[in-house]
Amino acid sequence: MTTLTFYGGVGEIGGNKILLTDSKTRVFLDFGMNFEKEKRYYEPPYLQPRNEDHLLGLGILPPLKGLYKNDETEPSIDAVLLSHPHLDHYGYLKYLKDDIPIICGEATKTIIIAKELSGLSASGYQIANLTKSRGLEILKEFVTFRTNRPPSSPIVFNPVHVDHSVPGAYGLILETSRGNVVYTGDFRLHGPYYQMTEEFIAAAKESEPSALIIEGTNIVNAKISSEAEVKTKIIPVIEHTKGLAMAGFSINDIDRLRSFYEAAHATGRKLAISMKQAFLLHKLESDPHLSIFPLDDSNISIFVKEKKKLYLWEQEITNHYDNIIDASDVEKMQNELILTTSFYDMNELIAIKPISGSTYILSQSEPFNEEMEIDFEKMLNWLERFGVPQYHIHVSGHALPYQLKWAIEEINPEKVFLVHTEKPELYKRFLSDLDMAIVSPEEGKEYEV
Ligand SMILES: [Zn+2]
Repeated sequence: MTTLTFYGGVGEIGGNKILLTDSKTRVFLDFGMNFEKEKRYYEPPYLQPRNEDHLLGLGILPPLKGLYKNDETEPSIDAVLLSHPHLDHYGYLKYLKDDIPIICGEATKTIIIAKELSGLSASGYQIANLTKSRGLEILKEFVTFRTNRPPSSPIVFNPVHVDHSVPGAYGLILETSRGNVVYTGDFRLHGPYYQMTEEFIAAAKESEPSALIIEGTNIVNAKISSEAEVKTKIIPVIEHTKGLAMAGFSINDIDRLRSFYEAAHATGRKLAISMKQAFLLHKLESDPHLSIFPLDDSNISIFVKEKKKLYLWEQEITNHYDNIIDASDVEKMQNELILTTSFYDMNELIAIKPISGSTYILSQSEPFNEEMEIDFEKMLNWLERFGVPQYHIHVSGHALPYQLKWAIEEINPEKVFLVHTEKPELYKRFLSDLDMAIVSPEEGKEYEV
């Protein structure tokens, strides 16, 4: 028997944790963090889960034996297969036993480890460590793949790249005794590498799958735009900026970073990136499959925040590169820079003193949950204090409704499971004219493929 059980990503965007069983084989497809559910109970950094028992007690983690660090029984699953390195797809890996293999794309592994080293993880729950005495330690067992080059794995599958708002995103085509099961992860068809998604859809179609698990983030409130359009919109805003141009976007969004890099070129400015961004690029630099500018490029500066002591990962950057600038440098060259700045960098504005005619471009999702809205309010207060107007220029990493429907018709499975959407019933009705079974899964319920 082949079954699917959905422990997250049900009626919500993200938190995907899908258990696939095929006779004795048991693998999870993604093991993501549930932002929405955590937000109901927690207020970081004052109150946050400290171990798996807290999330198990709240019904947020799958209530299964043999999965978690503090559970002494043997591992009850063979592996976790990751679609891509967004927290809502991998964020709960840290609670799993370290000897459960994590199977993912090569760039996915690099990004997860870079983000882990430059973030703050609770002790006992790190995925990787960087210490002076022992250097880099990777505490989980990673097995990596590339498109059409699957690794040896407890389940036979073929990974095919897709375009999304982070590098290292894949769709998976899994062989089971009941036929092929296709998992899209997150994908888009309007991005700069839409051909990659088309290649995945063609491979998925060719596999004549029994089941398709597909995302539906944009089934409501889809906005039509493209990365090229984002760049075209950024340039005149910066051209008309007399003072400092600031930009806020996700450090994972390498396409957006490239758009700002090119906009900097076009407007005769330098792009000043954060240390976290620099560390991620430094780690990705050796990947020949990603076209990223070199960090010592003459149009790049690395912005270091005012602080007394640098972490080891930050020292790795300051030891490697000389193009480091701080707030006093930014103050003197405001009309020569695009400075990437998030809400968490706002203290730096005191020393930078943005001059009249400065600009802030918000280039990520609009604040869509309450917690982000609170941060957003505060960021607007900072910008108001310094007389900086804010623009919102963004394009989504997810496919539009008509593209989702086209992908489903192309792949033409017997059964479709709808995940990663806030409106599964709307999505189901939108597809109701298709000649296939459409399932809006219930959380924790087992479905036969
Ligand atoms: Zn994603």
